[in-house]
Amino acid sequence: MNAIVPPAVEPEELAEIRRAVRALCAGFPGEYWRELDRRREYPTAFVAALTEAGFLAALIPEAYGGSGLTLRAAAVIMEEIQASGCNGAACHAQMYIMNTVLRHGSAAQKEKYLPKIATGELRLQAFGVTEPTSGTDTLSLRTTARREGDHYIVEGQKLWTSRAEHSDLMLLLARTTPRDQVSKRTEGLSIFLVDMGEALGNGLTIRPIRTMMNHSTTEVFFDRMKVPAANLIGEEGKGFGYILSGMNAERILIGAECIGDAKWFIEKAAAYARERVLFGRPIGQNQGVQFPIARAYVQMRAAELMVREAAEQYETGANAGAEANMAKMLAADASWAAADMCVQTHGGFGFAEEYDIERKFREARLYQVAPISTNMILSYVAEHVLGLPRSY
Ligand SMILES: Cc1cc2nc3c(=O)[nH]c(=O)nc-3n(C[C@H](O)[C@H](O)[C@H](O)COP(=O)(O)OP(=O)(O)OC[C@H]3O[C@@H](n4cnc5c(N)ncnc54)[C@H](O)[C@@H]3O)c2cc1C
Repeated sequence: MNAIVPPAVEPEELAEIRRAVRALCAGFPGEYWRELDRRREYPTAFVAALTEAGFLAALIPEAYGGSGLTLRAAAVIMEEIQASGCNGAACHAQMYIMNTVLRHGSAAQKEKYLPKIATGELRLQAFGVTEPTSGTDTLSLRTTARREGDHYIVEGQKLWTSRAEHSDLMLLLARTTPRDQVSKRTEGLSIFLVDMGEALGNGLTIRPIRTMMNHSTTEVFFDRMKVPAANLIGEEGKGFGYILSGMNAERILIGAECIGDAKWFIEKAAAYARERVLFGRPIGQNQGVQFPIARAYVQMRAAELMVREAAEQYETGANAGAEANMAKMLAADASWAAADMCVQTHGGFGFAEEYDIERKFREARLYQVAPISTNMILSYVAEHVLGLPRSY
């Protein structure tokens, strides 16, 4: 554990998880990530190691072969991955997408899929929601699924479907009832589990998108893709509600990742500021250098409390919408502020690939936008917490 960012007081079992994740991540140092980043390649060995250690099955109940841990424990896993300089974005979705199957799937679907997801035999880490024309406005999505006998026929396109090339299954949101035929605007969308191996070349096309960081994201096209009716999750038309209920866990876990990133940047900056000597003294002796580091630390610790509060609220079973959104926003802001501070503290060296800072900086920027952008969080808080009129 690093010296300047002590773990918050927490039960021994969580401290133990931290140590185990740290030990695993030590096998995947900066040069491993740098090389993959250059080639925009998937961290297969890292994901295999996490899977084998059972970390990605943290939230799957023991009855289905998972570890049945709490969301707080899962958050600790994701935080430590990031704090070690690794990138959990390659596989974080394997932890939480299955939540939709767990909460809303039939007994047969859970029996069929969850044990294999727990062992990693099946990867369910592609989530097809965003589309080019609808973006944040999910209810305007255009991908349709039309029932024909015992199948649905899917037509349309998704954008930013991350890890699609590294997933066996995709959770897909598509419109099953035209928008003008539903009484409530949130109805008429349904969730499907798509067997990507079967669909690839049979109506499913995946096209990678090269982005500013190594994220294995893609766009996917559906041309009369057949999905068995047995792969509909829950009730037809209720998919939007199912997606929303899973999003709180996602936001809390991503908030925890941002806390891990912030800790990595702060540790790195403080170490450098102690060692780099200019004008006969460490640069960290100058308040102009130490205050931004201290400020980033204070900001991170406050956000960390909100992430913990959100995880605890989620675990009570109560609606954690407000806390999950606030946690994600505060943590993403803390990681981005720490990233900027870390570059500044390192001067020119912050831009050099070998320091890993510029890579982590690029990776940290995403969380201002995805999986939900800051504006939409503020809109949520304005409307649902403060009772202000809906703005869109
Ligand atoms: C690398 C990456 C990976 C991703 N992975 C996935 C994935 O696996 N699956 C998936 O489904 N999606 C994924 N996404 C999509 C991501 O969730 C969206 O990019 C994000 O929700 C924003 O949507 P958008 O890009 O369409 O922006 P838009 O919706 O077009 O919004 C553009 C800007 O306008 C702002 N804005 C829009 N409407 C309003 C409003 N009413 N009030 C105020 N501001 C507004 C937004 O906040 C944003 O800043 C990923 C995106 C990226 C970049």
